[in-house]
Amino acid sequence: MNYATSLEHIKGVGPKTAEQLARSGLNTVGDILTFFPRTYDDFSHTVTISDVAPGKVTIKARCESISTRPVRRGMRVTTATLTDDTGKVQAVWFNQPYRETQLKAGGEFYFSGEFEFRYNRHQLTNPSAEKVSDMPVQTDRILPVYRAVAGLKSQLVRKILAELKPFMTMHPETLPLSVVRTEKLLTYADALTAIHFPKTKEDIDAARERLGFEEFFELLLAGQRNKQNNAKLKGWHIPFDQPAVKAFVEELPFQLTGAQKRAAWDIIQDLEKEIPMNRLLQGDVGSGKTVVAGLVARLAAQHGFQTAIMAPTEILAGQHAATLDTLLRPFGVNVGLLTGSVKGKARQALIGGIAEGDIQVIIGTHALIQSSVSFARLGLVVVDEQHRFGVAQRQELLKKSEQMPHLLAMTATPIPRSLALTVYGDLDISVLDERPAHRQPIITKLWSPNSRSQLYKTIDGEIEKGRQVYVVCPLIDDNIDNEEKSVQREYDSLRQSTFKHRRIGLLHGRLPSKEKEAVMGEFAKGRLDILVSTTVIEVGVDVPNASVILIEDPQKFGLAQLHQLRGRVGRGPEQSYCYLMMADSKAPSARLREIERSEDGFYLAEVDLKLRGPGEIYGRLQHGALNLRIASLSDTKLISRAQAQVAQFIKNGENIQDYDMLARHVEHYQRITTLN
Ligand code: ADP
Ligand code: MG
Repeated sequence: MNYATSLEHIKGVGPKTAEQLARSGLNTVGDILTFFPRTYDDFSHTVTISDVAPGKVTIKARCESISTRPVRRGMRVTTATLTDDTGKVQAVWFNQPYRETQLKAGGEFYFSGEFEFRYNRHQLTNPSAEKVSDMPVQTDRILPVYRAVAGLKSQLVRKILAELKPFMTMHPETLPLSVVRTEKLLTYADALTAIHFPKTKEDIDAARERLGFEEFFELLLAGQRNKQNNAKLKGWHIPFDQPAVKAFVEELPFQLTGAQKRAAWDIIQDLEKEIPMNRLLQGDVGSGKTVVAGLVARLAAQHGFQTAIMAPTEILAGQHAATLDTLLRPFGVNVGLLTGSVKGKARQALIGGIAEGDIQVIIGTHALIQSSVSFARLGLVVVDEQHRFGVAQRQELLKKSEQMPHLLAMTATPIPRSLALTVYGDLDISVLDERPAHRQPIITKLWSPNSRSQLYKTIDGEIEKGRQVYVVCPLIDDNIDNEEKSVQREYDSLRQSTFKHRRIGLLHGRLPSKEKEAVMGEFAKGRLDILVSTTVIEVGVDVPNASVILIEDPQKFGLAQLHQLRGRVGRGPEQSYCYLMMADSKAPSARLREIERSEDGFYLAEVDLKLRGPGEIYGRLQHGALNLRIASLSDTKLISRAQAQVAQFIKNGENIQDYDMLARHVEHYQRITTLN
């Protein structure tokens, strides 16, 4: 038996079970061994119902009565009364109608879940239920709970893993032994056994430490190897040209900030090197990333190189094109805009100009990576809001050069440095940590819905003064399909009542891009007073006359995202305001209070990281591509331990091929984290 053995060959797994496992993504022994528990039910400490107190509890009880009813579309609530010798308690499950069948069969169950005060009564919310007679006899009753992918039952997973236990305990070590010893980690075999069959809470902690360490070790090693590989590539040599840069800077309508100068200088030095640049430019909203990109595009053009700038939306690409055209045309640099909306003859001409090299700076959306687009001499690729693009998309663009172009990735998502180094270990980083001068702070206020009409009056006063307003709505039920409904409702209500005398526009992701452009254009030209929108306005949009942003139901957003939304205002000379309209009149959370207090994106990102975990900021990285199973990106201690060991590994000149699993995983991370 080995990792690749199909689960069908395991005792007790028939074709039907195998099929069900496959639907949950579990095909091989390796799949199920590394299918780590989502959480654990601790049945070793049960309390009697009379002793139940708020928090996580486990009771041993019978089900007296149970029923299910629909409360609204797509939501069914199952309610049960549970009893033991000491009393009764209510349990409630959301969308788990199968509980009825399970509990009606009768008998004693362990129920484990959150006991809380909700909907005006005390209840056990979504408890797990395990039949007492089904529980393994001699265990310590800490039971792993596995993700119920495609209806997968934890019981089944536990049964198969029990069959695999002997294989698990004999599993060869996967990390260098010296690392395991120095860091006093569990061996891989012990960690696997402990995570699936813990006897105590300490077993779980030790297993998670070991497996989390391993993930960081792999991820960090991948970053280092990508960096080494990049250093072997030949890059375009674009020498510094002082007069050209100086002329560009002198023509700007403002002075560059110190941070902008430092970042530009970092980049200029990279371009002079013989290897391709791989740099991340991080800067809070409004910190002025575009002009830095413009400056280097100017330098590249001076030496006959083209620059491609890719932005995630048409609106943004359009604004960049307008800005850069103004900045670069005086120097005889031709700027082109290529998006899905450029069609027919205009498109032909543009694509021709890019291929011939007549257009030196090309701004566009995903349209840039189409096969019909080829460049005469692509020297520099700039990816704005880089986290919006996948690795494959960046690579498509980079491939359009005969040798690896320089890459500047830009992001307004403030990633704490320790984290950036973990996730983007192969990148050099420049940070714009200084605001352009004369920028007034934005006044931010949390608002109770009880005084909504008062706020509307204040806002109307701003419109009267000639200012413009954004109204941002979150998705209903976090469901992208409902996006339209949410903004449409807000739009209708504002138009029919309070603001019926104002010009109101509507913007959401479902609109055809032509229409989006048109609405945004109207707003930018001052022909609309209010723009009701989803988060499509989130990135980069620049309308200096907009001085108020009203965000509905801010709880639904992460702090970093709220901060980015807030950055839509405060771009002009007027005092700007950000109002956060709470969904109810309860006291706002400490988390939301932070956004009222601080305008520092990096600080807010740290708060998000602490209070909500990295998933909030790095949702896509954490749960999407990176898919760390155990490690938490907020565990900086474990990260630095892994960092030290990776450095040692490289220094020792170890050959990664000596470690089978390590080599496989590192290769995987290398593929998904590389920028080029
Ligand atoms: P972001 O970093 O969010 O992409 P932008 O590049 O869109 O920021 O710049 C925001 C605004 O600030 C633009 O209107 C730009 O012209 C202006 N700006 C950029 N740098 C400076 C500066 N050094 N001084 C004053 N205004 C600046
Ligand atoms: Mg920008």
